[in-house]
Amino acid sequence: MQTSFTPAQLADPHVAESERILRKCVHCGFCTATCPTYVTLGNELDSPRGRIYLIKDMLENGRPADREIVTHIDRCLSCLACMTTCPSGVNYMHLVDHARAHIEETYRRPLPDRLIRGMLAAILPHPGRFRAALKLAALGRPFAGLFDRIGPLKPLAAMLRLAPRTVPPARPRPTASPTPRRGRVAILAGCAQPVLDPSINEATVRLLARLGIEVVAPKGEGCCGALVHHMGREDDALAAARRNVDAWTAEIEGDGLDAILITTSGCGTTVKDYGFMLRLDPAYAAKAARVSALAKDVTEYLASIELPEPSVRPGLVVAYHSACSMQHGQKITRQPKELLVRAGFVVKDPREGHLCCGSAGTYNILQPEISAKLRARKVKNIEATGATIVATGNIGCITQIASGSDLTVVHTVRLLDWAWGGPRPDGIPEPAAVLEAAE
Ligand code: SF4
Ligand code: SF4
Repeated sequence: MQTSFTPAQLADPHVAESERILRKCVHCGFCTATCPTYVTLGNELDSPRGRIYLIKDMLENGRPADREIVTHIDRCLSCLACMTTCPSGVNYMHLVDHARAHIEETYRRPLPDRLIRGMLAAILPHPGRFRAALKLAALGRPFAGLFDRIGPLKPLAAMLRLAPRTVPPARPRPTASPTPRRGRVAILAGCAQPVLDPSINEATVRLLARLGIEVVAPKGEGCCGALVHHMGREDDALAAARRNVDAWTAEIEGDGLDAILITTSGCGTTVKDYGFMLRLDPAYAAKAARVSALAKDVTEYLASIELPEPSVRPGLVVAYHSACSMQHGQKITRQPKELLVRAGFVVKDPREGHLCCGSAGTYNILQPEISAKLRARKVKNIEATGATIVATGNIGCITQIASGSDLTVVHTVRLLDWAWGGPRPDGIPEPAAVLEAAE
């Protein structure tokens, strides 16, 4: 794609990076076929190619964002299916991240939108506030129908419906110091996941301890910044990234780390991008690149080490839902399924596995109608496999799919922990009963 940025514009490193990305796009439109919003809405401006044109026009003309571009960029899930499909290697992720930051700087959103976004940014990255908000949401659930009738307040209705009816009590961060030790890793505690389902990191640490891997929880580490990053709040996202880089660097330069493990694939995509996000900060660029190189999804790490034979072979039929951040963001497609098969599960791939379930960070709150359509399509495809158990590696997908179906949705690592000697996850029946039912 030809561009016409001025030398003065290209002196801004963010614009220069976007220009490099734009020049790679050859307008072929292959990406439209796998874009969930184009597939759902059928509007070119809700396709990757259409958004690329809108972003080019906005940046090239150096103009503030307007309502039209905000509408179509807000509808983008950042699922990155377009990056998997694109034959020209267009880095849509970095382009849309830049566009979102530009929107945040130059566009004044209507008051209800500003309030809801401000509230999400102030609550979600902080586990204590998030836990308190979930308890309040349980009380406010009866008002969801009322908020639904007031257009700008629909996100509040979506939030109330997504909130679980009960919230597990706060539990200490799990760590492990096995002897003998054959490895040492840090695990990202995260923000929303330990509040919604602390058993995910607990299962990870139990499994790693049995495998002889020490697991540490560095002080000072917190939310990865993905939630605010996707809202265009760059200062907040970079502050979160710097804080985590500091915490992990202290461990790397202390007793050393073989890997930084992440059990929420949405966070994994962001931590693996810290090197890019902080590339212009001389004090952090090298440290952030080292952190990104060490970041691994838990299944990516487990697939890289030697595993004993599993102690239980559950033999259950499991549909594997590959989160967008796992398959498109991190390009991890093989390892979670291979581990599940090795653990004795029968793994089914739902149709249209490349399409997003509609979770996408805060998307299911901010764009509830499109999100609900994508969820219904995802649930239908999963149910068609005949499996009643769904394994996935992202808490957002777990919440989203479970909120629209009666399926049992669990994190992949909980099934692996069970097969390698841990407890059977809640909600999963004794294997024999399920095998009989499946026959
Ligand atoms: S990130 Fe997803 S929703 Fe956004 S343009 Fe790409 S494929 Fe479409
Ligand atoms: S597939 Fe890639 S090159 Fe083709 S239009 Fe989409 S982004 Fe551009």
